[in-house]
Amino acid sequence: MNISFNTLLQKENFTKDDIVRLLKASGEQEKALFKRSHEVKLEHIGNKVYFRGLVEFSNICKKDCLYCGIRATNKEVNRYDIANDQILKAAKFAHEHKYGSIVLQAGERSDPAFVSRISQLLRDIKKISNNELGITISLGEQSAETYQKWFDAGAHRYLLRIESSNAELYNKIHPNNEEHSHATRLKCLQSLQDIGYQTGTGVMIGLPFQTYDDLANDLLFMKKFDIDMVGMGPFIEHDQTPLYQYKDQLMSLNERFRLTLRMIAVLRIMMKDINIAAATALQAIDPLGREKALKIGANIIMPNITPTQERANYLLYQNKPCIDEGADDCTNCMEARINMADGEIGYGQWGDSLHYKSRH
Ligand code: SF4
Repeated sequence: MNISFNTLLQKENFTKDDIVRLLKASGEQEKALFKRSHEVKLEHIGNKVYFRGLVEFSNICKKDCLYCGIRATNKEVNRYDIANDQILKAAKFAHEHKYGSIVLQAGERSDPAFVSRISQLLRDIKKISNNELGITISLGEQSAETYQKWFDAGAHRYLLRIESSNAELYNKIHPNNEEHSHATRLKCLQSLQDIGYQTGTGVMIGLPFQTYDDLANDLLFMKKFDIDMVGMGPFIEHDQTPLYQYKDQLMSLNERFRLTLRMIAVLRIMMKDINIAAATALQAIDPLGREKALKIGANIIMPNITPTQERANYLLYQNKPCIDEGADDCTNCMEARINMADGEIGYGQWGDSLHYKSRH
């Protein structure tokens, strides 16, 4: 016989079936789930929200993921690559405005010139901020040697989304070739953890062909891998991508949104002290999407500080919000929004994953 929903919420360890049941919650049960995840968050990590100033410095990418608007073969995209001095200017802005950390993100490249450019940039950011700015990078699959170089140059967190823990599903949303291999993705994630990065991953929620079992397995994967940080958001289709042809098979945007909130809530209960980002894609569906995520379990927010003129060209998905606001507007807006979600901004702090600290 099924235990009651409230008893289920108090369990220490969830089975796959438990998670599926939680992910399907609606109405009063969904409310109870969100209440429980909110309590767990306050008890284990408090109400602090940490900023990661996001610099999407280039949309040049060698890969061709079937869901992504900036995939290599999309000829409609205006490609850009922001000069190093502009990136440093954005880092300076983040430092002066006490953001605590930045995230450097770009399409995937691994040519030697790119690798050494990033090493130099990392050292320069550390230098201009007196070592005070924490740096997360999200630059895709690289060799262990490259990851080590960037770690030595000053990056201490790395975000590499696995998109799905199910290799079969992964193969359906990526071209079928060596360059897009699920096994390589997992190997890279392992290298990052072995090197000593605070290691982050994430998945897309509401993909075509995806089942509740897949999503439950995604959360179990994160727990088993002992991940330190997670950024997961709803899948939003882009009309210049091959996956767009399945748009009629998707759940509604609102359902994808609610399901993402439930994924965050369940993960918070399962992994009490990790960092969880309120993904920008949530705001593309609901203007208060990120605030809702903060309330039920997320504790990281990534204000976009990419120079404004390039933001509209970094569209991994459509309807992306905040592409025309300057970084200053962005900070003011964030502060008001976070206060609204009963959060308090951890200005000038790195806000490292407590889970990482307990692992070491
Ligand atoms: S998802 Fe990332 S790696 Fe894949 S095409 Fe887009 S930018 Fe490139």
